[in-house]
Amino acid sequence: MSLPLPPPPAASLGDPQLLSALKTHFGFDAFRPGQEAIVRDALLHRDLLAIMPTGGGKSLCFQLPALLMPGVMIVVSPLIALMQDQVRLLADNGIAATFLNSSLKGSEGSERMSALLRGEIKLLYLAPERLLMADFLEGFLPRLQQAQGISAFTIDEAHCVSEWGHDFRPEYRQMHLLRRHFPEVPVFAFTATATVRVRADIVRQLALIEPALHVASFDRPNLFYTVTPKSSKTYGALLTQAKKGGAGIVYCLSRKRVNELTERLQGDGIAALPYHAGLDAEMRRKNQDTFIRDDVGVMVATVAFGMGINKPDVRWVVHYELPKSLEGYYQEAGRAGRDGEPAQCTLYFGPGDILTAEFFIAQKVHPATGEPLVDEQRNARQQLKQVLDYAETSACRRSVQLRYFGEDFSGPCGACDNCTSTRVEEDWTVPAQQLLSTIARLAKLSQRFGAGHIIEILRGAKTEKLIRQNHEALSTYGIGSDKSADEWRHLVRVLKHQNLLEETQDGYPVLLLNAGSWLVLRGLQTVTLVAAPKPEKEKREKKSRSKSAAEVPVLGSAEEQLFQRLRTLRKKLADEQGVPPYVVFADAALRAMAQTQPTSLTTFAEIPGVGAAKLAHYGEAFTAEIIEAIAAR
Ligand code: ADP
Ligand code: ZN
Repeated sequence: MSLPLPPPPAASLGDPQLLSALKTHFGFDAFRPGQEAIVRDALLHRDLLAIMPTGGGKSLCFQLPALLMPGVMIVVSPLIALMQDQVRLLADNGIAATFLNSSLKGSEGSERMSALLRGEIKLLYLAPERLLMADFLEGFLPRLQQAQGISAFTIDEAHCVSEWGHDFRPEYRQMHLLRRHFPEVPVFAFTATATVRVRADIVRQLALIEPALHVASFDRPNLFYTVTPKSSKTYGALLTQAKKGGAGIVYCLSRKRVNELTERLQGDGIAALPYHAGLDAEMRRKNQDTFIRDDVGVMVATVAFGMGINKPDVRWVVHYELPKSLEGYYQEAGRAGRDGEPAQCTLYFGPGDILTAEFFIAQKVHPATGEPLVDEQRNARQQLKQVLDYAETSACRRSVQLRYFGEDFSGPCGACDNCTSTRVEEDWTVPAQQLLSTIARLAKLSQRFGAGHIIEILRGAKTEKLIRQNHEALSTYGIGSDKSADEWRHLVRVLKHQNLLEETQDGYPVLLLNAGSWLVLRGLQTVTLVAAPKPEKEKREKKSRSKSAAEVPVLGSAEEQLFQRLRTLRKKLADEQGVPPYVVFADAALRAMAQTQPTSLTTFAEIPGVGAAKLAHYGEAFTAEIIEAIAAR
C-alpha cells in the first residue's frame, strides 16, 4: 500500500554540519545533553524511544531531523493548544510546519493538504483521532507518501498509550496501525515519563522495532529546590516572591484554596489568576493564555494546570500545600525553567499537611460498605512517605528525587537548600532511645500502640486511656515532657525514614521495633535531627543561594535597564503578531543582547537564539532599540 522511501541520508552529517543546521534553523550554538545522539539516530531512519525530562529540549530532537530528512514528518500530539504553539514557534524560525485539526475553517484544511502534497511543508502536526480516521490513514497519507515521502512518525507525549501512565488516551492504543500501514516509516516516540513499565508499554503498543533507547538524566540543574517550614510568615514570603517579578505558579490542593489565595494576592496588588477544573473551559483557556502572554505574572492553580503549558520562562513554582506524590511534585516543580535559565522551586511544608494527607487517605473507603480500600490506602501512604522523605530529609534534595527515578546521584548538588545552608544537626539519640524503649516495654506486655499514645506516655499526659492502661507506671512515663508533641512526632517520622522504626500500614497504625531500632537501643547507632532554621540562618541561606545561582550572568544597572527595554519591545512585537513573547525570543537571548549590545546585524546574528529567520524578522528592530538605548545614556 505504501512505496519504499527514498534512501536515507548519509549515516552521520558530522558535527560541523549538524551544528550549523542547529544555528541556522534554531539559532542555538550547542546541543543540550542527549540531543545530538537522538538526532543522529533519527537520521539513521530507525525507530527510537527517547525519554527526557520536561525542559530537556525534546522538540528539537525530531524537528531538526525533520528538516534534514527528505519528505514530511508527521507529528502526533495530544493537545491542540500545544500543536498551535509549536507550529507558531517553528514558523517564527522560518520552518515550514502546519497542523490539521477541527478548529480550521472553510477550505483551510484542504489548502494545507495541497501544500503538503506539493512538498511545501516539512512537519505536519495532528491529534491521534485525526490521524487514525480511515480516509486520512488509508487515503491522504498514502498519497502523501507517494508524492513526497513520509520521513517519520513522531509520537509526542508517547506515555499516553499506557494505562500505567498518568494521561492515558484510548486513541493512542490504535497507533500500531501506523506500523501496519507504513512498515518502512520509522516511528519516534518521545516522553517525559520515566517508569520502566510505561516504557515497555510504549514499545509494545507502538510496535517499535529494536528502537534506539535514549534515557536522559532527570536532573534539572538549573532548578534550585527549597523546602521551607510553614509559619505565620509563609504568605508574606510568597508575596515577596510574587513581587520580585518573573512568571510563577502556585500549586494548591483544592479549588477553594486556589480561589482564596488568588483573591488575597490580587488584594495585595499582584496580577494573579486562578486555574482549576471547577472553572469552565473558556475561562481556563483565557486565564492560561493571559499567563502565557505575560499579561499576568502569577497563576494560582490545582494540578489541573500543567500538561499543555509550554511556557518556557516560568521562573518559580511554589507548592503551598504538600503534593500527593513525589513524581507529581517533580513534574509540577519541573514546569519552572524549561528554558534552562535558573528558576526556584519552593515547597512549603508543616505538620498540618501530614494530618490533612492522612485524613484524605482515611477517606478512601468503599462507597457502599464503608470498608477501607486497603490497596488504595497502602498505595497513597507509600506515596505520602516518599513525599515526606523528600520534605524532611537533611540530605541533598536532588539526590532524593533522582534516587526515586532510579538514578545514582549522591549529592551534594550545590543547588538545594540543604546543600547550600549550614544546617545545625542535633544529636537526638537519647530521646530516640526513650521513645523506642517505651515501645519495647509495651511489646513485653504484648501491647501495641500508635504514635499519639506513645507520645502521651513520654510527655506524661493524664488521659483516661493512659490511666486505665496503667501506663503511668512505665519507667519512661513523663521522661520527655521537655519536648513538644510536634517535636516527638518529627522524631517518629525521622526514625521511620531512616528505617529505625516501623509503622503498620493497614488499619490502625501502630509503631513496631525493627532491627535498626535495636541498634539505637544498644547505643550502636546515633540519631541526628536537623534543627528548625533560625532567623540568622535564613540570611546566610539567602546569600549562598544567590551565589549558587551564579550561572545567571549578573547584569549591571545599565544592562538591566536595556534588558527591560528589550523585554518591552519583545512584548510589543509579540502582541502585534498575537503570539506569546517567548515565541519572539527567550529570556536568555535578551540577556545576551543586553550584555553584548550588538548594534549591527552581523553581531546580532551571533546572539544565541538568533537563527536566520529571527535575524531577518527582528534584527532591525532590536539593534535599533539597542542603538537608541546606548545613545540615551
Ligand atoms: P520539552 O518538550 O522537552 O519540555 P522543549 O522542546 O519545549 O522541551 O524545549 C524547552 C526549551 O529549551 C525551549 O525554549 C527550547 O527553545 C529550548 N532549547 C531546546 N534545545 C536547546 C538548545 N540546544 N540550546 C538552547 N535552548 C534549547
Ligand atoms: Zn542538593
